[in-house]
Amino acid sequence: MKYYDKLIFELSVPGRVGYSLPKNKFENYNVEDIDNNLKRESGLELPSVGELDVVRHYTNLSQMNFGVDTGFYPLGSCTMKYNPKINEEICSMPQFAAMHPLQPVECAQGALEIYYNLAKSLAAISGLSEFTLNPFAGAHGELTGLMIMRQYHILRGDFNRTKVIVPDSAHGTNPASAAVAGLEIIEVKSTPGGTISIEDLKPLLDNTIAGIMMTNPNTLGIFESEIPQIAELVHAAGGLLYYDGANLNPMLGKCRPGDMGFDIMHINLHKSFSTPHGGGGPGCGPVGVRAGLEDLLPAPHVRKNAQGQFFIENCDSSFGSVSQYFGNFGVMLRAYTYILSLGKENIKYVGPLSVLNANYVKESLKDCYELPIEGVCKHEFVFDGLKDKSTGVTTLDVAKRLLDYGYHAPTIYFPLLFHQAIMIEPTETESKETLDAFINVMKTVAREASENPDIVKSAPHNTPITRVDELKAAKQPVLKFGDF
Ligand SMILES: *Cc1c(COP(=O)(O)O)cnc(C)c1O
Repeated sequence: MKYYDKLIFELSVPGRVGYSLPKNKFENYNVEDIDNNLKRESGLELPSVGELDVVRHYTNLSQMNFGVDTGFYPLGSCTMKYNPKINEEICSMPQFAAMHPLQPVECAQGALEIYYNLAKSLAAISGLSEFTLNPFAGAHGELTGLMIMRQYHILRGDFNRTKVIVPDSAHGTNPASAAVAGLEIIEVKSTPGGTISIEDLKPLLDNTIAGIMMTNPNTLGIFESEIPQIAELVHAAGGLLYYDGANLNPMLGKCRPGDMGFDIMHINLHKSFSTPHGGGGPGCGPVGVRAGLEDLLPAPHVRKNAQGQFFIENCDSSFGSVSQYFGNFGVMLRAYTYILSLGKENIKYVGPLSVLNANYVKESLKDCYELPIEGVCKHEFVFDGLKDKSTGVTTLDVAKRLLDYGYHAPTIYFPLLFHQAIMIEPTETESKETLDAFINVMKTVAREASENPDIVKSAPHNTPITRVDELKAAKQPVLKFGDF
């Protein structure tokens, strides 16, 4: 063990410091004036270490994790593993970074303009009428969108519409958001081809249906080609169509949810528009609606008057607000920077490139991994484990072995339609060389699984922490230093 592999508390030497603080500006302040229950009773338990110890400790810790800046990330249903550095540069400009949410609108015109323009850009990209950028995440966008759906029916006096149809391939947040929104979930099964079955859908459509939640392409990466008919049926039954646009990249430049008949949708800026994703956020899940539903969007809204000035408005017919102020402005700024960096002329390549990359990886690997649904996929696809299952190597083992070769694991055991699901999404931003190297490693792991299965079953071997007992980690987590 290297000296710096020790934990920072173990490096502590009494009396050692790594800082020099400026002279106390408050030295004339009377300590007696501080309320007793605000005073600390004992010293802070911090390690006494030098500056280099601290820098090396955190830098080494940062390298024990995996990130987009250190390697390829084939994770499926988590589009966009690209965080351009220009986004960070724009965000750290003091004009943005030092803003206060209560700043008067006269001196926040620039920020309001960015909010307004980003909402307009998303409306143009998705073919809907108007967007709110206030929700903090994809799931939060879903909840907001479903509350809009409920509000739509309630305002029409249609109080019986309390059920929402969700396909069995849906992301887990869909039924969860529907439940939080107080809706009852009706599951519709996928066909063997991975799309929604119109025959199964038809009998579900009655006057208790609030709407349907769909992801298109769905989480199997398959385009729901029957969507015009589904839209017609659901609308004819009085329901609305909700579009889960968390992963919008395969559509960019090719087609728009608004044109397919969707009424409400959310987009994950932290997936499809280059803002950092994972590690718990912050995120942004803008929600858009078709013409006629704009008043149902949650407040506050940013509007522009005839003189070109921006102002803030609350709207009575919405159900209130879903966030403090306007949501995560830093995330919006990054997404807007990304959209402007690409421009209209380049954004149209995003969809085709993400589809090309996914199909290239799929076709290159389908001799070693079981491909349950043949045909052209969109931005992602799903294998059902290894083709050769005779040695008992599972999807989990494959995922762990990839870590040894320096790759993040794909999404595994989701969607739930297959026992050994491996969901891969390379995204539009990776080069052919990166994809080829990944394909080679996936083939190597498949070969190892047949010829030397133990090395795969006991992987990973090269990571700071090797195979963990996942059940124990979930049931008895060690959450603080003293518990080791
Ligand atoms: C990621 C994802 C979500 C949820 O987004 P969060 O920001 O994680 O809440 C919803 N639907 C799909 C299809 C997703 O991939």
